[in-house]
Amino acid sequence: MEKLVVNLAYIVSASLFIFGLKGLSHPRTAVRGNMLGALGMFIAVLITLVDKRIVDYSTLILGLVIGAAVGTFLALKVQMTAMPQLVAVFNGLGGGASALVAGSALYEAVNPNTVFATASALSGMIGAVTFFGSGVAFAKLQGLIKERPIRFSGEQATKAVLLVVALLLSYKLALSPDKTYLFWFILIVSSVLGVLLTIAIGGADMPVVIALLNSYSGLAASATGFVLENNALIISGSLVGASGIILTNLMCKAMNRSLLNVLFGGFGEIVSTQEDDVYAGKVKATSPEEVALLLEGARRVVIVPGYGMAVAQAQYAVRDLYNLLENQGVQVEFGIHPVAGRMPGHMNVLLAEVDIPYDKMKELEDINPLFEQTDVVIVIGANDVVNPLANTDPKSPIAGMPVLEVWKAKTVVVIKRSLSPGFAGIPNPLFTMDNTLMLFSDAKKALQEIVTALKES
Ligand code: NDP
Repeated sequence: MEKLVVNLAYIVSASLFIFGLKGLSHPRTAVRGNMLGALGMFIAVLITLVDKRIVDYSTLILGLVIGAAVGTFLALKVQMTAMPQLVAVFNGLGGGASALVAGSALYEAVNPNTVFATASALSGMIGAVTFFGSGVAFAKLQGLIKERPIRFSGEQATKAVLLVVALLLSYKLALSPDKTYLFWFILIVSSVLGVLLTIAIGGADMPVVIALLNSYSGLAASATGFVLENNALIISGSLVGASGIILTNLMCKAMNRSLLNVLFGGFGEIVSTQEDDVYAGKVKATSPEEVALLLEGARRVVIVPGYGMAVAQAQYAVRDLYNLLENQGVQVEFGIHPVAGRMPGHMNVLLAEVDIPYDKMKELEDINPLFEQTDVVIVIGANDVVNPLANTDPKSPIAGMPVLEVWKAKTVVVIKRSLSPGFAGIPNPLFTMDNTLMLFSDAKKALQEIVTALKES
C-alpha cells in the first residue's frame, strides 16, 4: 500500500488517540474518549494489517485470535479488585513485546545503521525493565510475594552499576550494530535491574510504581516504533509514556513524595507492631442499630470509601444509604482519597456505577476542612487513607502522605471485618480514638443492616 495512505491513516488514528485522551480527562466524556481511542487503535491495526510490507498473515491471524480470546476472557472474568494486577500484566506484556519485536527486527536487518541499533537497544532495555518490573509488581499485588519493600545493603550501588552496564552495552551496540549478540546482554542486565527496582518498593507506594511502569511500556513501544519506522507506534508510545509520567507525578503529589524518593528513598524497615499492643482494651465496637441511631440525629454525614468497599462490592448498599439519608434531609458527601482502593479513580468508578452524583464526591483537599463540621463520618473498608500516623509518625511507611482527617468529626464509624492492617501493613490509631466506633462486619452486610434499621425506626 502507498506509504502516503498508510501514514495518513496513522495520523487519523493518532488524532483519535489524542481526542480519546482528552475525553478520558472527565467522567462525563470518558466513555466517548474510550470509544475514540478504540476506534483509533482499530484503524491503526487495520492499516498495519493491509500494509504488506509488514505482515505475515498466517502467524498474525493466529496471534490475533489467541490475543483476542485471552483479552475477552480477562475482561469478562477479572474483578474490579484485581484491576491493578491486570494493569501490571498489560504494562509488562507491552514492554516485553516491544523488546522482542525490536530484537527480531535487529536480527533480520540487513546493514543496520546506528539510529536503528540505538532504538533497538533502548527498546530492549526499557522493555525488559518494564516486563520484569511489572512481573514483580503483579506478584506483590496478587500476594504471591511479600508486599513489603525488600532491601539489602549495597542495593543502590548495584542498581547504579546495572544501569551503567546496560547503557554501555547499548552504546556499544549503537557503534557496532552487527554485534547483535549484545542485545541479549542488554536484555539480561535490564531484566535484573527491573526486578531490583520494583522489589525495593512496597506498601503505599505501589500506585506510583504501576503508573511509572505504564509510562515505561509506552517509551519502549515508542522506541520500537523507531526500529520499525512505524509512525503510529512512535506517536501512541509517546502518548502512553507522557500520560504515564503525568499520572506518576499526580500519584507522587497524592503521596507527598518525590519520584526519586519513591524509587531510591528507602523508608527503612516497616516495624511490625503487634496488633494487641496497639489496640488492647482501647477499641469500642458498635452495632448497625446504634449506627442507625447516630445517623438519625445527624445533619451532616461524610462517607469515606476504601478498598474494602470494592472487595465487598458494597457500592449498591452505599447508594441505598445515601438515598435514604438525603431523603431524610441529611447532607451527605463522599471523601475520596486519590490512592483509595487499588487503582487511580477506583472509588470514583464504583460510586459512578451506582449513580452517585459527581458533585458529591469531594477530593481530599476539599473535604478535609469540612470534617470539623461533620456529625458522622462512615469509613467503609478504608484504612491507610485515614491513618493519622501519616501526620504524626515520621518513621511510618506512609509518613507525609496526606490523609483524610476523619477523626476531626464528632463521631467516626469504621466498618471493616477485623483490626487487620491495610495495604501498607501498619496499625491504625484511628481505631482507638475516643470518638471512633468500630463496626466489625463485611461492608455490604453492615450497610444493608444499617439501612434496614433506619427504615424500621
Ligand atoms: P487499605 O488497603 O488500607 O485497607 C482496606 C481495608 O478494607 C482493610 O483494612 C480491610 O480490613 C478492609 N476490608 C477488606 N475487605 C473488606 C470487606 N469485605 N468488608 C469490609 N472491609 C473490608 O485500603 P485504602 O483504600 O484505605 O488504602 C489503599 C491502599 O492501597 C493505600 O496504601 C494505597 O497506597 C494502596 N494502593 C493503592 C493503589 C491505587 O492506585 N489506588 C494501587 C496499589 C496500592 P479487614 O480485613 O479487617 O476487613
